[in-house]
Amino acid sequence: MYRLNSRNLTLGVWCAASGGFIGLRTKFTSTYPATEYHWEQGAPHGTAQPQEELSDELPAEVHLTERLDGSLCTMCDEPATYLRWPEGDGETHKVPGVWLHLDGTRCERMYGYVRTNKELETWLYAMQVKHGVRTES
Ligand SMILES: [Zn+2]
Repeated sequence: MYRLNSRNLTLGVWCAASGGFIGLRTKFTSTYPATEYHWEQGAPHGTAQPQEELSDELPAEVHLTERLDGSLCTMCDEPATYLRWPEGDGETHKVPGVWLHLDGTRCERMYGYVRTNKELETWLYAMQVKHGVRTES
């Protein structure tokens, strides 16, 4: 965990896989985990400069990703997947597919939505409170 001098983040967890820091970004009225890249990566993407290393460690059970893999059903929150319509000549027939739960069942009028990483968001928020970071932009 680092205190950062960056465009949108005040605190961030170093993520070696992406070469960036993941922290809480506030945009308009929503707050969500977002990545900013290390400034050594150069312009225009390298906007985060670590200022101070903090002793806080991300708990092992929290995944260090902005979002989790897979989609959930908008109606019941079960894992869902998008199945393309089984037309033979899919190249020419742009027929939409259908959202299904992973077990093949479906809710009426269901769609899938991306899973946000609530555990990471909660932990980052607690760190901001602990370190006296204002959460409003
Ligand atoms: Zn459902």
